[in-house]
Amino acid sequence: MRTLYKFHGGVHPPEHKEESNRLPIAPAPLPKRLTVPLRQHIGNPAIPVVKVGDQVLKGQMIGAADGFISAAVHAPASGTVSAIEPHAVPHPSGLPDLCITIEADGEERWIERAPLDYRNADPDAVRLRLRDAGVVGLGGAVFPSHVKLNPGAPAGIKTLVLNGAECEPWITSDDRLMRERAAEVVEGIKIMAHLMRPEEVLIGIEDNKPEAAAAMQAACRGTGYEVVVVPTLYPSGGEKQLIKLLTGKEVPAGRRPVNIGVTCSNTGTAYTVHRAVNHGEPVISRIVTVTGNVLEPRNFETLIGTPIAEIVQLAGGARPGTTHYIMGGPMMGFGLDNLNAPLTKAVNCVISASPALFPPAPPPMPCIRCGRCAQACPCELQPQELFWFSHSRNFDKARAYNLFDCIECGACSYVCPSHIPLVSYYRFAKSEIATRDMEKKLAEQARERFELKQQRLEREKQEKAARFAEKAAAAAAAKAAAAASGVEDPEAAAKKAAIQAAVERAKAKKAEAAAKAEGAETPAEKIPQGDSDPLRAKARAESYAASTENNTDS
Ligand code: SF4
Ligand code: SF4
Repeated sequence: MRTLYKFHGGVHPPEHKEESNRLPIAPAPLPKRLTVPLRQHIGNPAIPVVKVGDQVLKGQMIGAADGFISAAVHAPASGTVSAIEPHAVPHPSGLPDLCITIEADGEERWIERAPLDYRNADPDAVRLRLRDAGVVGLGGAVFPSHVKLNPGAPAGIKTLVLNGAECEPWITSDDRLMRERAAEVVEGIKIMAHLMRPEEVLIGIEDNKPEAAAAMQAACRGTGYEVVVVPTLYPSGGEKQLIKLLTGKEVPAGRRPVNIGVTCSNTGTAYTVHRAVNHGEPVISRIVTVTGNVLEPRNFETLIGTPIAEIVQLAGGARPGTTHYIMGGPMMGFGLDNLNAPLTKAVNCVISASPALFPPAPPPMPCIRCGRCAQACPCELQPQELFWFSHSRNFDKARAYNLFDCIECGACSYVCPSHIPLVSYYRFAKSEIATRDMEKKLAEQARERFELKQQRLEREKQEKAARFAEKAAAAAAAKAAAAASGVEDPEAAAKKAAIQAAVERAKAKKAEAAAKAEGAETPAEKIPQGDSDPLRAKARAESYAASTENNTDS
């Protein structure tokens, strides 16, 4: 039996798993309209590769990965692209984001789906398949899997950890997936292990999911993979906490698991890896738990892009008393204002919340320095200090106290007797620091650009001056050489000749004008002057013209 290593802190909130984990996963019907956000992962958003009016097939790539840390997005159904524009998305900011809307035609015409023989393929080709199939971490982090499944550590990867802990209350999507599709999850783990070549594969599952653990144990038989049942303690599903539990290794502050030879992925992600590689199917759907104050809490296999409002209806709709909706679990999730927002790869749970299920928090009181938050923190931080620094906008201090190691698990807020919404302060401080860092970076870039321009102008000035000096020196040298040899300076001689030629031309012109004045006046010049009457002048001119004409003819 494997030794388990306890991580620091942790809490025991009510689990509320039974509400939604009793029924099997149900397929959700095809919606009329699907709205697919281009940003559903960490990194650059996907770039649209279709335009309004295009016909698309189910599974067709509609947004391509933009760079290394990015992933593609796909049409969840066949139909017509009707819009590419900002749309409400499920995000804590509440801001809209660029989405591609598809009007489903109901025909469900698939792209050609080609399996990839990963055992005989170049590992980079397998990773490319994952990127182009839009495979990202489905545990909530949505980090692109082709980046994660890259043994970048100098010493390689010793342990591949599969996270089936699902420690957040209310959420049961991984539980049902492991119970019902364990064999397919294990096929995905085989592909991951093929890419990472770890010495061991450990699958961590909390002990409140005995059916899932049993199904995974059966599916892992003969593979050498080890299913490890861990005590139910929130947040054992945190990446660093699960690694500590299973291996005893601590991921140092500011570092990633790969730095200590460990990689951790969600079991739901393993399932999509299998579908993408062995079936050629991109990520166009996911299992989502719909629970809380709804008529029939359950898990549904739902197309990405389905409006959240329709997903709530799948569970029979919200019961009376629903006041708001939560995306994800109550500990790490966030409130959703707009039910038109679509399902994304990151959404594993939708909770219909009522005051009966989630009583409003009492008004916050001053911190009494009781230290309970520090005892509960799984990252061994000082939450009360982070609170003070965030509250007083002393962001440098907050950063120095490892604010960015905070996983926003909410354990500190959960135990705080003063009901201080600590995580909100940490999120605020993180976003302020990120904004300042960005501004600093932009200012630095602007300064660098200005300095480069100044350097270029100075360089050009110096080059011009050098060219003039060179020319003057050459002319002086030529003059000196001419003077020394008694020959006239060629430049001065050329100048003299040009002046002489101009004088000659002027003289010639003058002589020509004089000759003309003497013998070839124009008729107008011969008209007697001094008569101011224009009619009489005209008549005189005509008479003169007739006389000269007669002279010529004779
Ligand atoms: S638990 Fe609350 S009251 Fe106690 S030290 Fe932490 S922030 Fe202060
Ligand atoms: S939210 Fe952050 S500070 Fe609070 S317990 Fe979790 S990791 Fe610690």
